[in-house]
Amino acid sequence: PKAPELKTKAAAQVRASKNKEHPPPPPAEVTEPESEDRPNGAVYQVGKLLGKGGFAICYEGQLVPTKQRYALKIVKSHMPPKMEQKFQTELQIHSKMRHKNIVQFLRAFSYDNCTYLILELCLNGSLMDMVKRRKGLTEAEVRFYSVQITGAIKYMHGKGIIHRDLKMGNIFLDSQMNAKIGDFGLAALVVTGRDMQTIRRTTLCGTPNYIAPEILEKGKQGHDHMVDIWSLGIIVFAMLTSKPPFQSSTTDEIYRRAKERDYEWPDVETTQKFISHEAKDLVATMLTEADQRPDPDVIIRHPFFTAGYMPAETEMNIRLREVPPE
Ligand code: ADP
Repeated sequence: PKAPELKTKAAAQVRASKNKEHPPPPPAEVTEPESEDRPNGAVYQVGKLLGKGGFAICYEGQLVPTKQRYALKIVKSHMPPKMEQKFQTELQIHSKMRHKNIVQFLRAFSYDNCTYLILELCLNGSLMDMVKRRKGLTEAEVRFYSVQITGAIKYMHGKGIIHRDLKMGNIFLDSQMNAKIGDFGLAALVVTGRDMQTIRRTTLCGTPNYIAPEILEKGKQGHDHMVDIWSLGIIVFAMLTSKPPFQSSTTDEIYRRAKERDYEWPDVETTQKFISHEAKDLVATMLTEADQRPDPDVIIRHPFFTAGYMPAETEMNIRLREVPPE
């Protein structure tokens, strides 16, 4: 009597797998067409899958003649208009960035109905993966990453760019365990008198945990770039505790708590992890009203950075590769 049921289950599974959208298998090789600076074009061998995003899929790629490895970000050429716009912004802004702590954009081309972005390869996943795996970082490690991310923010803001989607999942780690900001899909060039409604619309598609309260409120303008400093405050809290401060089961509740700055540091008794007064104060200075938030130069002069030990790059490299014993 069990057989028919099994048959039905198997049939249902087959139907489900057929309905699921499977991305087409990647080509073994990708050919970059001829261009002014590459008159003979180029060939990349496609390697292992790195990850999937909202509209892109990333593979490792190797440029055949030099054996240099990159991340190939592949996007279908015909996307719905909204996604197309996100992608165009990403391309325009990301291609103008050049900083040690920003994923380097190398080139973009079309091949076989897809657009390919050739990006610096970050082989060690995202900051979010690492923080989750290690259940929070030490203060010395948080100092190291905060300085790197703050430097990248200073650079972006200096160029008139607001990232608007800074979060641990958008910060990748290279082979030396350095932080590299990626995904410029929601970034914007600062234009004075710009329509806040547009920002609200696009930003509300982002991740609620990291959104600054003034984005949610009408009529507050003039400190737009400070939304990145708010997100940095959330990132620092999350690096220390492994959770964003306003984490809740509903988005409305996250927004309410963010507006009221309703957050608590975990109890040292339960977590066995001491968090210094300086670290807490640094986060508090960033989670304030937009016009009160410190700019990058002020941030790195905070006592949190001068009071304690700062690991060198080589040390971070050894420290963070290994998962500490439970
Ligand atoms: P989307 O813009 O669609 O959200 P992402 O830029 O987040 O796509 O990329 C999707 C996934 O691909 C990421 O979560 C990450 O795992 C991987 N990835 C993206 N860029 C790189 C990179 N430069 N190096 C290594 N992996 C990357």
